[in-house]
Amino acid sequence: MMLSLKNITKDYKIGKRSFRALNNINLQFNKGEFVSILGPSGCGKTTLLNIIGGLDRYSKGDLFINGVSTKEFDDKDWDSYRNHSIGFVFQSYNLINHLTVLDNVELGMTLSGVSQTKRKNRSIEVLEKVGLKSHLYKKPTTLSGGEKQRVAIARALVNDPDIILADEPTGALDSETATEILSLIQQISKNKLVIMVTHEKMHADAYSTRIIRLKDGEIISKNAQTKDIISDDYKPKRTSMNFFTALKLSFNNLKTKKFRTIITAIAASVGIIGVGLVLAISNGFREQISDIEKDQLVNLPILIGREETEVGFDRAGATTFIPENYEENELVVYNPAQDTHINKITQEFITYLEAMDNDIYTTIHYEFGYTPTVITTENQTPEIMDLSKIGFSSFIIPEETMSDYYTLKAGMFPQNPYQVVLLIDEWNVIEQDIVEALGYDPNEKLYFDDVLNKELTIALNDDLYLEQNGVFFPNYSDLEYVSDNGVKLEIVGIIETTDDTLEYSNGGIKYLYSLKTELLGLNANSNICEAQANSDQSVFDLSALTPSEKEQLMSFIGCNTENPFLIQIYTNSVEHKESIKEHIALYNEGRALEEKIFETDLAKAIGETLSTLITSISVVLTAFASISLVVSSIMIGIIIYISVLERTKEIGIIRSLGGSKRDIARVFNAESLIIGTFAGILGVVMTFILTFPINNIAVKYDESLKNVAQVNITHLIILVVISAFLTFIGGLIPSRIASKKNPVEALRVE
Ligand code: ADP
Ligand code: MG
Repeated sequence: MMLSLKNITKDYKIGKRSFRALNNINLQFNKGEFVSILGPSGCGKTTLLNIIGGLDRYSKGDLFINGVSTKEFDDKDWDSYRNHSIGFVFQSYNLINHLTVLDNVELGMTLSGVSQTKRKNRSIEVLEKVGLKSHLYKKPTTLSGGEKQRVAIARALVNDPDIILADEPTGALDSETATEILSLIQQISKNKLVIMVTHEKMHADAYSTRIIRLKDGEIISKNAQTKDIISDDYKPKRTSMNFFTALKLSFNNLKTKKFRTIITAIAASVGIIGVGLVLAISNGFREQISDIEKDQLVNLPILIGREETEVGFDRAGATTFIPENYEENELVVYNPAQDTHINKITQEFITYLEAMDNDIYTTIHYEFGYTPTVITTENQTPEIMDLSKIGFSSFIIPEETMSDYYTLKAGMFPQNPYQVVLLIDEWNVIEQDIVEALGYDPNEKLYFDDVLNKELTIALNDDLYLEQNGVFFPNYSDLEYVSDNGVKLEIVGIIETTDDTLEYSNGGIKYLYSLKTELLGLNANSNICEAQANSDQSVFDLSALTPSEKEQLMSFIGCNTENPFLIQIYTNSVEHKESIKEHIALYNEGRALEEKIFETDLAKAIGETLSTLITSISVVLTAFASISLVVSSIMIGIIIYISVLERTKEIGIIRSLGGSKRDIARVFNAESLIIGTFAGILGVVMTFILTFPINNIAVKYDESLKNVAQVNITHLIILVVISAFLTFIGGLIPSRIASKKNPVEALRVE
């Protein structure tokens, strides 16, 4: 190996002025030489050595390596040159204190991509050679000065470079140790080129084969070249640190500042915990909903109404129709019917429906639109109950499951069509309107016992409607007679709902489906029904009726037993529900749109609406929690920047060993990645732990909330990845700053 410096000049820029540290240096070095560079402090010795070692760049001139000009070298070529051809030994040792002796020595080889076992064997071999076999696993801080310098020499030798550059290697050692080190260097100088900077003439005289004297950046004397110039080819090989080494470097570094790392990770994990909990809770809710859908809502029937619109709470009340374009002062006309499908519930369909496999449904209920006239008697005077003030409806659940949905507060559940119950809320509250409709004085105290066993009467058509000259009128003048002949109902129980999903009414009278069938049967052949069936005029006022008006009127008075306006199909499992829907879909196949039958699965609609609700709430909450994720990634950026400042020396050392800018960036990226992953894992573990107290507290508010927070493994894994990613992003800028640091200046930092 041969080095040749031609007119090397180095100018340092200090603000606008420049300082010439080296002026027109011409030198040649050859294999086997031990050259000493002598000169006073500040004369440019280190600068010269750094230029020869490719750590610093010359301003003018050229440096030839084996006759190859370095003018066109790029960063990577210099990195490779340092790594393969140069071994540096510094006055201040420049060891990485958080790595063991062995790891320090291995570092140079790691950069050149040597396999682990080979690296280790070679490093031990070299450490043995410099007499440090028993110190392999010590940290440099526990070694003496001489020992540290031996480690540095071992590190310089490990890649078997052709050139060893030693910058005042004995400057910090006592004279005895210095002699030992110098003999060691002399010993290794066979077959290598050693260039040593010193200001001790004695050392230079005693050990070197040639002395070069430097003063104020210029050569003032040099001995003659002792060896012939050999020239072979030079081709730089590329180096690269693998990511695992970067991880190890940063991991060891983080171990030396555990406290700070842990605090940082805790701070960074807060955002993860926030997002994690939001996800856990929405996840818990979602599972709860699907449980409810499976266990409780499954008993809600599939509905087939005459008019079907998509059901959902977001549609309640307001129209969801939004016009595409309209003028500012235009009134846009909207007909809700355009979004409503009219189901033609024909006898054909009913026959088809009832032909459905018996196993997949339990019962089918038909609603014919009959609104009975109910009479209540209080203080001997019968009164028509105002059904606009009190709910009067049948249960929409199978009778056997009644106790799953309602709790009995007094009395019993209805056993036959003539037994009804009063629905109130869990705090015994009942609306004044209902109390009045039932015939009680709302200003007097009312007890369960006052209501239990109360009798209500449903008027039969033949008693209620009297005919005169072909016109029917209600016999309100003799309600007592109507009441006496009517169908007697008894309030046998007072109930509340166990679950709010089922009842949206404010309470009122609930009866069994069979009561309706019973009443329809009793009224079907009444005079008014027969008269109305045979006339296209209203039997009440002889006004003309359209066919649909006629049907409506017949339904209202209970004469319609053929054209249901609502069908309720009951079943007992989610799978059966799907089968029922398939059965209906089969009916629709090949039919024109207006002939198709659409159904509503209330249970599903409720479930879906709730999950949409939960999704939107979680999105909002996650967005809030994410702000802390952003904050923590900025914080990580700052922490990494501080680390860059602290590890500046390490940056210089890695660069001197041939590490590239990318390697440096990698070291700090590894650091942020470690912190981020650690923070992520911490956050995820904390999230998991926190779900327990959250569930414990939640269950105190509502029994059904006992599993409200449930972690999802996939979410947790994604969160760790997000945490690692965000901190990685946060660390990118500081690690870029680190990679751009000038290695010479980095090494000068104390
Ligand atoms: P030596 O190693 O012989 O003591 P150096 O090579 O370190 O001297 O420095 C040579 C001269 O160059 C000194 O005067 C020093 O102040 C100057 N010098 C070194 N590095 C820089 C720099 N980055 N910017 C400006 N001046 C520098
Ligand atoms: Mg110096």
